[in-house]
Amino acid sequence: MSDGYRQLLDATISHLEGLKSRGVRHVAVAPETLRALTLPPKKSPAANFQPPISKMAAPPTIKTEPIISMPPKKSAAPAPVAPPKATIPNLKIEIVSSSPEKAAAFTALREKVLACVKCPHLASSRKSVVFGVGNIDSPLMFVGEAPGADEDEQGEPFVGRAGQLLTKIIQAAGLSRADVYIANILKCRPDTPGQSAGNRPPTPEERATCIPYLQEQIDLIKPKAIVALGATAVDGLLGKTLGITKLRGNWQTYRGIPLMPTYHPAYLLRNQAMSEKRKVWEDILKVMEKLEMPISEKQRNFFLKA
Ligand code: URA
Repeated sequence: MSDGYRQLLDATISHLEGLKSRGVRHVAVAPETLRALTLPPKKSPAANFQPPISKMAAPPTIKTEPIISMPPKKSAAPAPVAPPKATIPNLKIEIVSSSPEKAAAFTALREKVLACVKCPHLASSRKSVVFGVGNIDSPLMFVGEAPGADEDEQGEPFVGRAGQLLTKIIQAAGLSRADVYIANILKCRPDTPGQSAGNRPPTPEERATCIPYLQEQIDLIKPKAIVALGATAVDGLLGKTLGITKLRGNWQTYRGIPLMPTYHPAYLLRNQAMSEKRKVWEDILKVMEKLEMPISEKQRNFFLKA
């Protein structure tokens, strides 16, 4: 067993023991994680790759049910375990991984949202509630509009064409999807009755019904910056209707958190002009500066004409 793997295992065991010592009896684990745990470890060239220890010390991301029961608490409680510390290499800010309370509150919120039927028309047409994905301790959060057909199918935000572009933008900043948190204003796909395909923006009523869930997510995550993707995200969070063209690139504040409005990646798919890509990239550069991330010369010059 490699040193890195042993450290990851030790950090995970410490984290679970910490939860247990605080009386937590159940943890939610993604079905794919459960399946992976039953398989023998893969031997591949990537096995030699050792990510920085600091990153490996983070406990695994809690994603969805099912529930694994933990054995009842023994009488002698183990000494309290400090939450492991982690850094995301390009986000120099050191993050203290979720306290058990935060992780539990997030799991409880997820369960509440997954069971939501406040918009009966959306509850009956949806395949999934698309809660959100990523690192709940991340200093950086992206907020979009609402799930589309691909997101509804897979239960994860931004996995369709616009999502793949968002993933590239995140990677261009030197991060991965797992380093940030991604959510939407609306957790269900807006229905399109009588149509077999297509999207529509959320109605003001749908937005108002769902936004408290996003607020709770933001309050728990406490990001240091939010990127609001497109007019619906900006209007939904700021309650402004100034227009995305006027607002983009200018720092706003949402409940004390710096918020950068920028164009939605779907807009960049519709308008392939270099100038529009550069505008979004300039907004991302501002976010990187705010988070004191390293920015290379190459990154500074993306989408500038030669
Ligand atoms: N567009 C969004 O705004 N959110 C998604 O999750 C996917 C596409």
